[in-house]
Amino acid sequence: MDVNQRKQLLEQEFYRRFGCSPVLWVQAPGRVDLMGSHTDYNQGYVLTMAIDRTTWLAARPRDDRQVVIYSLNLEGGGPFSLDRITPDTQSPWTNYIRGVAAVFAAAGYPLRGFDGLIHSTIPFGSGLSSSAAVEVAAAQVFTLLNGGLDIPPVQMARLCQQAENEFVGVNSGILDQYSSLMGREGHALLLDCRHLTHQTIPLPEGVQVVICDTRAKRELTGSEYGERRAQCEAGAAQLGVSALRDLPVETFYRREAELPDILARRCRFIVEENQRVLDLADAFTRGDLAAIDRLTAASFIGARHLYQIVSPEMEAMMQAMRTGPGVIGARQAGAGFGGCMVAFVHRDATADFAAHVQSVYHRATGVMPGVYPAQAAAGAGRLVLEAENV
Ligand code: ADP
Ligand code: MG
Repeated sequence: MDVNQRKQLLEQEFYRRFGCSPVLWVQAPGRVDLMGSHTDYNQGYVLTMAIDRTTWLAARPRDDRQVVIYSLNLEGGGPFSLDRITPDTQSPWTNYIRGVAAVFAAAGYPLRGFDGLIHSTIPFGSGLSSSAAVEVAAAQVFTLLNGGLDIPPVQMARLCQQAENEFVGVNSGILDQYSSLMGREGHALLLDCRHLTHQTIPLPEGVQVVICDTRAKRELTGSEYGERRAQCEAGAAQLGVSALRDLPVETFYRREAELPDILARRCRFIVEENQRVLDLADAFTRGDLAAIDRLTAASFIGARHLYQIVSPEMEAMMQAMRTGPGVIGARQAGAGFGGCMVAFVHRDATADFAAHVQSVYHRATGVMPGVYPAQAAAGAGRLVLEAENV
């Protein structure tokens, strides 16, 4: 489906449901991390990239205080009142929008009701941040319907994160929302999760990012995520720093014997992974493909042995990616335990690489993986289609 067909689909469906056409279109991209697993809540660095898989939200302002929201991707939806925003158990997906409305209202921003229809090309629950894209798209609509509320992007990312933490009940970091808002075409973002600042890093010439979805369900809200987080905090406290981000690799190596074995392994992964983020950004800038190979391989080995977030499906996918034609490097993405992984591939070999990964992974697991070559995309905003500004 090209962008015009997609727009037409939304327009038709909007008309069918609301009897009129949308007047405001916004888009918010998904994202993938190129390096930096679990470094975000350790206040470290992540090399992240907004991708050309997006959530679109078509809207039309209403004269009352209702938001009426539907999605082409999921059943349910309907109206809620901006004067009494409560969580919805019938259509839990609307809580991402309700949550944004609730935190905006609590922060004192004026809100206006709207009719809205969502459509996304981001797979759900795979670690590509479809949830953040919905929040960020809703935030754009609330902002633009009020004549462009002047909310600095970092503040907007925080509000969307707060919506997910408090209203949906997922204890996620700010990485997803930040990436969706700040993405830049052709570039990755070297995000500093403590200071919430970033540098843009150009992707190396001729290198294609290929996202490979194991299609194995992540159980992120399960105990593992919270347990890793607690272990990192305990390790940092025992070493007398406020976050693992404060420990240079050499300092950590000298002191890791002070920690119980399990904490030492968890902390070692984070400290090394944090350094790998900086090193990969540097390798991109230099176009150093051998370093991409070395750093991604080390990241996966650490995820397997030290942080222990690698599932059997991820092992099978790693095997498929590492043996693919034109591969430069490959690693996990997101939080691990299934979900998506990421490969760097010589652009000319992308189609062959995709076919190889599909057949090898399918043979090993019986599951057909998702393989998505991804371009680095611009951050969220008003949707701009070629030769027209809708
Ligand atoms: P991820 O963010 O990694 O894709 P999450 O579990 O955090 O996974 O978020 C997925 C959830 O976000 C979906 O189950 C759904 O509730 C909501 N969501 C995402 N995209 C849409 C959409 N286009 N329409 C409706 N709900 C959506
Ligand atoms: Mg999410």
